[in-house]
Order: sequence, then C-alpha cells, then structure tokens
Amino acid sequence: RRQRQMCIRDSGRMDKIRIQNLTVFANHGVLPEERVLGQKFLISAELYLDTRAAGMQDDLTRTVNYAQVCSFICQQMQQTFQLIEAAAEHLAQGILREYPLVRRVDLELAKPWAPVHLPVESVSVQISRSWHRAALSMGSNLGDSRAHLDAAVRALQSDPMCRSCRMSDYLVTRPVGYTEQPDFLNGAMVLDTLYTPHELLDNLQRIEQSRHRERVIHWGPRTLDLDLIFYDDRIISDARLQVPHPEAANRFFVLKPLSELAPYWMHPVLHRTVAQLLADNPEPV
Ligand code: ATP
Ligand code: CA
Ligand code: CA
Repeated sequence: RRQRQMCIRDSGRMDKIRIQNLTVFANHGVLPEERVLGQKFLISAELYLDTRAAGMQDDLTRTVNYAQVCSFICQQMQQTFQLIEAAAEHLAQGILREYPLVRRVDLELAKPWAPVHLPVESVSVQISRSWHRAALSMGSNLGDSRAHLDAAVRALQSDPMCRSCRMSDYLVTRPVGYTEQPDFLNGAMVLDTLYTPHELLDNLQRIEQSRHRERVIHWGPRTLDLDLIFYDDRIISDARLQVPHPEAANRFFVLKPLSELAPYWMHPVLHRTVAQLLADNPEPV
C-alpha cells in the first residue's frame, strides 16, 4: 500500500511508454468548417507505469499494449469537441480509466492545420493527468447514521472518477465541541481519484446534500459530514478548502478509522504518520 502511494508521488521517475505523433483525422474545432471538413491531429502520449514485471518475464499481459492504446485514442477522437483542450482532457481521462496500470499520462494534441492565417507549423496543447490518492473522513449523528454513511460509500464507489475505494470499520464516538447532541458514527475512506481537490470537495458536498444535510449549529448534529483529510501530499489553503484538514491531526474520530487503512500516510505539514498522530490523540474519556 505504502509502495503504491510512493509510486503516485514519484511518477516522474517511473517507467514510461511513449507514443509519438499518432495521426488521426477528426472534427474538433470552434469554426463550423472545422467540424464539417475535419482536419489532421497529431497525438503524442507518455504513459507512466511500472514495466519491470513485463520486462523480466517478457510478458505482454503485465504491461499496456501500445497498439490497443493507439486504436483507443483514434476511437475516442471521433467524438467532436470545440477545443483541443477538451479533446485532450477526454483522452487523458479515458486512458487512465481504461488502462489500470497507467498511473499518469502526459498528452500532447497538435493541430498542424489549425486555421491561424499566419505561417505556423502547428498549434498544440500539452496536459499531464494522473490518479491521485485521497483520504476522507465521514460522520453522522442524525437519522439513520449507518444508512447515511453507506450511501456516501456507494456514491463514491459508483463514481467513474474514483476507484479502489477502501472503507474502514464504522466507529461510535462521543461528540466534541458542542456536546449536547447524539453520539456520532464515524468512518474513513481511502480512494484513488481523477478529481482535483476542489472537484472532490464539490462532490462530497453534493453527496452531503443528497442526504439532506442542513447546517444549523457549527459542529452541531448532521445527517452526513464528509471531510477531505489528505490529497496525495498536497498542501492547500484557500477560502474554500484546507488540506490536510486543519483539525484532522487532533481528532481521534478521524485518526482511528484512518489508521486502519493508511497508518503510514505522512502528514505533509507535521511530518508525522497517521499512526503516530493517533498515539498522540487517544480515545477521549
Ligand atoms: P470541521 O471542518 O471543523 O470538521 P465541519 O465539518 O462541521 O467542521 P462544515 O460546515 O462541514 O464544517 O464545512 C464548512 C466549510 O469548510 C465547507 O463549506 C468547506 O468549504 C470548508 N472546508 C475547508 N477545508 C475542508 C476540507 N478539507 N474538507 C471539507 N470541507 C472543508
Ligand atoms: Ca467535519
Ligand atoms: Ca465538513
């Protein structure tokens, strides 16, 4: 598990398969003529994966078949987009979802016949996309708490932008902060996602809304609370989102379930593992 997490962070040093200038005729463009007549596109892709086992065993089933990737790209390019940005986004996501061994893809999509009316060799976009690992904390103390947490798990498991969802056991905890309220049912989840941190937060909030979450008292009772605890080893602090979650390191009800799934995940600010933080924050009496 830990090794896999390292792989995500170190994708820059991973093995890769390169596809250079695959030529596809397709109909992307903002101008109607481009969408009717079509034009040439050149696609280059670098697929980051571990090729060691395939190399040692000379075994195609342990790597990604680049011929299949090329035909997958051609097929995906047949859908029409206005922007090469959109076509590139669609392709990158498609490759990451279709080929589970690929952790990251760097894509370049070039338009040698772009309608620029000036002498230009080609115009292209380059994007880099990858799977990211996130840790979530879940809590509920209103209504059927188990049903609310189960619904959140199902929503994330069935989201095509998420995969490898692993859920901790549920845990009953006493409320902290505002204590005149029912006990909580808490849990943690670790998952891989193609969402950015802010997109993931949007989705967590949508799931909360779907369980009719209402905000009455801060830290008060709620049907469902979904917090983003870690996202790779990113540090984010803006008006909407703080990652790592600023209180996570002090909360038994976050650390205990998360320690079941990712005891060695290193807090990127405090440089302490979840297990170490849990040892500092025993169950409140
Ligand atoms: P706490 O954040 O102390 O656990 P809470 O979960 O009760 O309290 P909410 O009312 O659920 O707080 O969230 C308030 C706001 O916190 C959200 O609208 C969201 O924009 C912001 N927020 C900032 N960082 C995070 C994060 N890492 N995960 C979830 N929400 C966050
Ligand atoms: Ca919370
Ligand atoms: Ca919250």
